[in-house]
Amino acid sequence: QFHMIKYEDLTSVKSLGQGSFTRIFKGCKTDIRDGEKHLTEVLLKELDVAHKNCWESFFEAASLMSQISHKHLLHVYGISVHGVKNIMVQEFVKYGALDLYLKRGRSVSVSWKLDVAKQLASALNFLEEKNIVHGNICAKNLLLAREGDPSQGSSPFVKLSDPGISVAMLGKDVILDRIPWVAPEVLEFPDNLTLECDKWSFGATVWEIFNNGNAPLRGWVLERKRRFYESFQQLPPSQWTELADLISQCMDYQAAFRPSCRSIIRQLNSLITSDYVILHATEPVTQ
Ligand code: ATP
Ligand code: MG
Repeated sequence: QFHMIKYEDLTSVKSLGQGSFTRIFKGCKTDIRDGEKHLTEVLLKELDVAHKNCWESFFEAASLMSQISHKHLLHVYGISVHGVKNIMVQEFVKYGALDLYLKRGRSVSVSWKLDVAKQLASALNFLEEKNIVHGNICAKNLLLAREGDPSQGSSPFVKLSDPGISVAMLGKDVILDRIPWVAPEVLEFPDNLTLECDKWSFGATVWEIFNNGNAPLRGWVLERKRRFYESFQQLPPSQWTELADLISQCMDYQAAFRPSCRSIIRQLNSLITSDYVILHATEPVTQ
C-alpha cells in the first residue's frame, strides 16, 4: 500500500546519475495544502525501462518504506506512474550515500563511525521487532542527513534507504556481486530472505564503515567472490578486537548463530572509543 503521486506534481531538477536499476534525480514535489502551494525537495528514483518487469518488486520496496516510520529509516512519499515510467518519490537526504561520503576522504573519528553503527542497529532492531526483512543493507544504502562535528560533540545522522528490487528477482551475477554484503545462504535460496540475512549484511556494513567506505572485496571477479563464500572465508578482522568480534558474530556462516539486535546494541554500547588504542592506525583494506 502506498500513496500515488501525480506526475504533474513532480519536477526533476538535476540528474544524480544511476543506481543499480534506476536513474536518480533531485527534484521537487508540489502539494496544495490549505489552498497554498508547498514545494518539497525530493529524490526521484526512476526504474530503468530495461527492468520494468520488476516494477512490482520496486513498488514493494516503496510500500515497505512508506508503511513504517522510524527516525533512521528513509521516508518514502509514494509512487508515480507515467506511461512506462515508474518513479519512487522519497525524502532527499542532503549528504547522500555514506560510502561515497567516506571515500571522499572526510576524516571522521572512530566515535562518529560508532554512532553510525548504533543508528543502523536501532533501525535494524525496529525492523526485527516488526519482523520485517530489509534485504539490501550496505553503506551505499545508508544516507547521511547530518554530518555532525566531532569537535563540537554533535553526532552524524543516517537513514537507511529502500532495498530496491528484491534479490529474488535478480540474476545470479548481481547476487554474486553483492558478496560480501549478501548473506551466504541467499546465494542458494534467494527467495528465502530472513532477519538473519540482514544481520550478516549489518556486519559487512559495519566493516565497510570502519574501513572508510572501502568496499570489502572490491574489484574481485565474481568467481573469486563465490569461492570466498564457498571456502567460508571471513573479512580481515579489525584491530579493535571487540569490534572484530561483533562483526564476526554477525557474519557467521550459520545463520542461527548470528546475534539478536538487542545483543548487537548491547555490544555496540559497550565499545568505548578510548579503548581503541590504535586510533590513527589504518585498517587493512583487504587481505
Ligand atoms: P540499490 O537498489 O542497489 O540500492 P539504488 O537505485 O537505490 O540502487 P543507489 O546506488 O543506492 O541506487 O543510489 C545512487 C546514488 O543516489 C547514491 O550514491 C546516493 O548518493 C544518491 N541517493 C540515493 N538516494 C538518495 C536520497 N534519498 N537522497 C539523496 N541522495 C540519494
Ligand atoms: Mg540504494
